[in-house]
Amino acid sequence: MVRRLILSVVALIAVLAAVMVGRTLMAPGMPAPVAAPEAFPVNEEEAVAKLAKALTFETISRAPGAPYDTEAFDAFHAWLGEAFPNVFSQLKVTRIAGHSLLVEWPGKDASLQPAMFLAHMDVVPVDPATLGEWTHPPFAGIVADGMVWGRGALDMKGPMITLLEATETLLARGYIPARTILLGLGHDEEVGGSGAVAIAAHLKETGVRPAFVLDEGGAVATDGLFGGTSEPVALIGVAEKGYMSVKLTSRGQGGHSSRPGKDTAISRLAKAIQRLEAYEFPNDARFLRSTLEPAMPLLPFGQRLAVANLWLTEPLVVALMKEAPDMAASLHTTKVPTILSAGIKDNVIPTVAEATVNLRLFPGDAPEAVLATLREVIADDMISVEPASSVMTPASPVSPTDSDAYRLISDTIKGMTPDAPPPVATMLVLMATDVRHYAGVSDAQYRFNYVPMTPALIRTLHAEDERVPVSAIPDMVRFFGRMMLGAGG
Ligand SMILES: [Zn+2]
Repeated sequence: MVRRLILSVVALIAVLAAVMVGRTLMAPGMPAPVAAPEAFPVNEEEAVAKLAKALTFETISRAPGAPYDTEAFDAFHAWLGEAFPNVFSQLKVTRIAGHSLLVEWPGKDASLQPAMFLAHMDVVPVDPATLGEWTHPPFAGIVADGMVWGRGALDMKGPMITLLEATETLLARGYIPARTILLGLGHDEEVGGSGAVAIAAHLKETGVRPAFVLDEGGAVATDGLFGGTSEPVALIGVAEKGYMSVKLTSRGQGGHSSRPGKDTAISRLAKAIQRLEAYEFPNDARFLRSTLEPAMPLLPFGQRLAVANLWLTEPLVVALMKEAPDMAASLHTTKVPTILSAGIKDNVIPTVAEATVNLRLFPGDAPEAVLATLREVIADDMISVEPASSVMTPASPVSPTDSDAYRLISDTIKGMTPDAPPPVATMLVLMATDVRHYAGVSDAQYRFNYVPMTPALIRTLHAEDERVPVSAIPDMVRFFGRMMLGAGG
């Protein structure tokens, strides 16, 4: 009897192992080579020089609603007109919400929905304390050691200038798209994107519904940025997390610190924060799957085995992923206390203590529901939990991967290296982008730039030594050019 039981357990394990290995071996391989697209000549020297110059304009966004240097933006606009004469003379350019620009390139066939490309011209400030850590000054537009250096090189004057260069090149060739092409260039993406909001509102008013809107957010993960492989994996952002901050206000008995009670505003708040810390919003592995599965052929056998058998290994993979903050953030709504304040004097017990908690909302987690969960977790009537700022954005919708637009992006990526195309996977973008504001005017919003993103480069986003490889620039232009040709017919 015992022997029979042992035998059947062994048989079961053998079958399971065979199924797992079988699934791993039968998993789809690398994308097949594709036909090489038509050559797209790019004047590399000129494109690089334009980007370097663009980085010298201090088009900085500091805080939502705060005044910005309008002269810097005026000068930038004037220079854009000189650098891209065909774009600014042949196409309709409308200034919106101060310094945002909508560029319209009418297509021959008005029955086709337009294709829309986004970029933003503002950059985040440089912390003066870190100036010494820059290899080259952040607003000098230096080209050295095979890199274009400066604030905005990646985020996102690099993509913006190459987008305009592609448009300029196609105009110079006399190309006329079948489908209208729109460029939405925001001026305040880094502080909420009121420009993008206004452009989207303008489209809505004029009844324009783009077939798709393409913005920043995804890239070609290279050099091991995609864990498990040093080979490139193209990651298209199909959704982005929402944003919300809440304020916890704790009230308690105040008084002289020589006669403390057991229960103060501060101790209550501390307990509330501990309870929040211990709570975890439910995990949802759908982006884990959509990101890992296409890259499977590049992963070492052990990882491939796990990914090919997520039906069984998902809890284990999720547990491992939770150790890495980037990965954990793709699994659920996150929360973290960011501001704490209480007390005015060392011998006075404060009656009020406050904490601000910043949350990034997973698609499907509505702000109101998340707020209710927080109240439930904190479970203290003496602590109020209220939205803390006017900036409260739900997570974006998840854009389809069975659309013509998605296929166009994916095929264009593959066509860039037709002999050995990278796996194309989708991801959840953790940060906010302008494209979220277009959810009301388009059914498909994607986030991708053809930038080779390495672990070294990604660390420079919003940080010191932001830079983009010179060698990447022609392909960035080419990618946008081919997207336009593909969309415009
Ligand atoms: Zn950006």
